[in-house]
Amino acid sequence: MSHTVNHTHDPRLRSWVKSSNPGQTDFPIQNLPFGVFKRRSNDDAPRVGVAIGDQILDVRACDKANLFEGEAKAAAAACESLSLNKLMSLGEDEWSGLRSRLSLLLREDNNEVEHHKQIIENHLVPMTEAEMLMPVEIGDYTDFYASLYHATNVGSMFRPDNPLLPNYKYVPIGYHGRASSVVVSGTGVKRPHGQTQTNEGEPPTFAPSKLLDYEMEVGFFVGPGNKLGEPVAIERAAQHIFGLCLVNDWSARDIQRWEYQPLGPFLAKSFATTISPWVVTMEALAPFRTEAFARTAGDPAPLAYLQSPTDQEQGGIDLTLEVCLASRQMREADIPPALLTRGNFRDMYWTIAQILTHHASNGCNLRTGDLIASGTVSGSSKESRGCLLELTWRGTEPVQLPGGETRRFLQDGDEVIMRGYCERAGFARIAFGECRGMVLQADGV
Ligand code: CA
Repeated sequence: MSHTVNHTHDPRLRSWVKSSNPGQTDFPIQNLPFGVFKRRSNDDAPRVGVAIGDQILDVRACDKANLFEGEAKAAAAACESLSLNKLMSLGEDEWSGLRSRLSLLLREDNNEVEHHKQIIENHLVPMTEAEMLMPVEIGDYTDFYASLYHATNVGSMFRPDNPLLPNYKYVPIGYHGRASSVVVSGTGVKRPHGQTQTNEGEPPTFAPSKLLDYEMEVGFFVGPGNKLGEPVAIERAAQHIFGLCLVNDWSARDIQRWEYQPLGPFLAKSFATTISPWVVTMEALAPFRTEAFARTAGDPAPLAYLQSPTDQEQGGIDLTLEVCLASRQMREADIPPALLTRGNFRDMYWTIAQILTHHASNGCNLRTGDLIASGTVSGSSKESRGCLLELTWRGTEPVQLPGGETRRFLQDGDEVIMRGYCERAGFARIAFGECRGMVLQADGV
């Protein structure tokens, strides 16, 4: 991996932004994720910001106050934009320079800061006064299927005798999704209409989906792209990855079942995909890298172009992922959201470097701002199944909600809330904030 642990990860670091102190926040000084926000109180254009505690630091405004130089200056200047794309297009040296400088400016034991503190304080916006916007202009969105447990569970429902297709352990399976319907956390998701076949052998009907589901995933954003016709060697894959976000790949299972053969998912997925507003950089995640998935004896080794010793040693990411659900009835009764599942991103069969390298291996050009999602993150236990299709085993084992309701699939008014966090002894906990979305009633119902 190109990012190593450095002074910005020191668990002893504290910020003079008091709300960022450990135990109180997803965004301590060791995190410093990027997003795009707008003040609710005025008509200012969107701005690039960095989360620190319950505040957002306006990077452009700090740049105007001449707080950066060198590579940090180049990166901060790229934040004078309505999205993160320009920053993401630069590269690791600039990203790292900006992170290092922001860490120094926000830490409490830095004498230089006393001089600048008043300026910086003027450019902090409370999160309560800001609206988070789409952080990235996404040109292309691709979704993978990288959890062996998810693929095996889903396969066994449809093909009990042959759950895992023979290509799975050789090729990271993916499909091209739809970038235009990727939305930021908090956006309502209208239940889609589509063709579904209720009874085998009978014609389908066109109606609102009855089997609406979420999929808990992790996405990464492409930084610098590759030229058409020029694949990316796995050793260099990390240089092309800016950071991660949480992804909810909403899925209409009844539409999916009828349409998916022979070309894969289409309208069952493209009505909405929700992402979290904060992009956690790969550098912030450096302390939480872990070995790639341990293949069991008898599994084939990855083909040479998908294999590197560094990726095998550190290609995984120890990132805990949670899905909570709040129904309308629960909200009305003041019942807090119920935890449905808890999984971990380190359980994926393919690493993000393998996924990126595979995606570009035919010469396909990835571009700055492309979103590449992992596929549903499921582990080996029932508690870690990342979608209702698996968790309720196609609706045969309903989930009990506090307040007495049950769920096979999502109902109108259900809000799905995803969270992700990294914890490791000797390091500060960092987290992703939330990725939330509420199911809205279908049109014409
Ligand atoms: Ca998916």
